[in-house]
Amino acid sequence: MIKSPFVRNSRNPRQHERRDPRVPSPLTRAHLKRLLQLVQLSFAREWHPGTGGNFSVRDPLGSVWVSASGMHKGALGLRDFLAVSLENAQPLEPCYRKPSDETALHCAIYRRDPSARAVLHVHTPHTVAFLRKPLALSSNEMLKVFGLKTHDATIAIPVRDNDQDMQRLGQDIGPDLDMQLKVLVLAGHGVYAWGKDPDEAMYRIEALEYLCQLQLLNPSS
Ligand SMILES: [Zn+2]
Repeated sequence: MIKSPFVRNSRNPRQHERRDPRVPSPLTRAHLKRLLQLVQLSFAREWHPGTGGNFSVRDPLGSVWVSASGMHKGALGLRDFLAVSLENAQPLEPCYRKPSDETALHCAIYRRDPSARAVLHVHTPHTVAFLRKPLALSSNEMLKVFGLKTHDATIAIPVRDNDQDMQRLGQDIGPDLDMQLKVLVLAGHGVYAWGKDPDEAMYRIEALEYLCQLQLLNPSS
């Protein structure tokens, strides 16, 4: 029988929290449970065609819990998250399953932005259709979701070329990438967003999708 870290932690979570990064902390468990609710929401919005999308939560001890590769997002559960090293994106213990192919990019985001506790990646259609290169969006109430104090401003959404080499993409999360907006679009692919918890990351995905939908509806705006 395969041991689950979620079962292993059940008797005395605080004891494990202090010494074993392969066991999710209570905060990580709470974030993962909330994340699963948000995944159901985004799945219902059809943002995960095929097995598209992946998700992660960073544990206070330094490990990262990443969704398993090849999972249908309508069936994702707690045990479908695997612990990997923040530093090298490799699994912390042998497992018959594989973490998401895009794990290296998740870990690169956490290393670059220590405030990030959750990273969400979805294939939002309006964002993918509209954002093919770095682009400015301005004067809309939704800009405040990206941390601005006013709607009367302009933000430049970072866009990178898509790449199947996630190690190379992770290296792109370097000093030249503007991390302020906590969002990154891969052209012709999807969007990554992060935040202090899963909800904050999802707000950014929703706001960006809305802004891109508006631009497609009214290109002159
Ligand atoms: Zn993707």
